Amino acid sequence: MPGPFDDLEPDEPLPFEPAPRPGVETTRTARPASAKAVAGRDEPGALRVFVRGSTKRCPRCGSGRLFRSWFTIRDRCPRCGFRLEREEGGFLGAMVLSYIVTAGLWLALLVGWLIVDLPDLHVAALTIASISVALLVPLLFWPLSKTIWASVDYLVYRSGPDYAAREAADRSGGNGGPP
Ligand SMILES: [Zn+2]
Repeated sequence: MPGPFDDLEPDEPLPFEPAPRPGVETTRTARPASAKAVAGRDEPGALRVFVRGSTKRCPRCGSGRLFRSWFTIRDRCPRCGFRLEREEGGFLGAMVLSYIVTAGLWLALLVGWLIVDLPDLHVAALTIASISVALLVPLLFWPLSKTIWASVDYLVYRSGPDYAAREAADRSGGNGGPP
């Protein structure tokens, strides 16, 4: 009695690629264009992205001159056009970052101060030092918080499957695109 699979071809290695049968589509996995493929440019690794962000440079191309003034970051990187402030409220991440650094430094100051100054604590001096940290650190750290956050933003943005398409649309101008 013939089995249900008897009419199939024997399982032996083929010396050539079988010709596609009519009606059977060759399935090719539609891969999204890789990040590297965008604009034919090598995209940096995550570590390099963070190093660039920590040194006030563009996370994507490493260019400097991203700031108009100490507090004003440009909309885009002057070299590669990467959008530095991507969305409304994008400053929130930078603010949180700035807050964490300020709080961390203040805590370090407090612990160090207590170790050195106890048991005769100079409360007035400690208060002045604390206020100075709370005021100065956010001001001094602000540009770094912006570029570090831009690097986080870039890594998240880049990991999206439609990165290449969005970047291409972004480059083509319109909707706040590059001039
Ligand atoms: Zn750039």
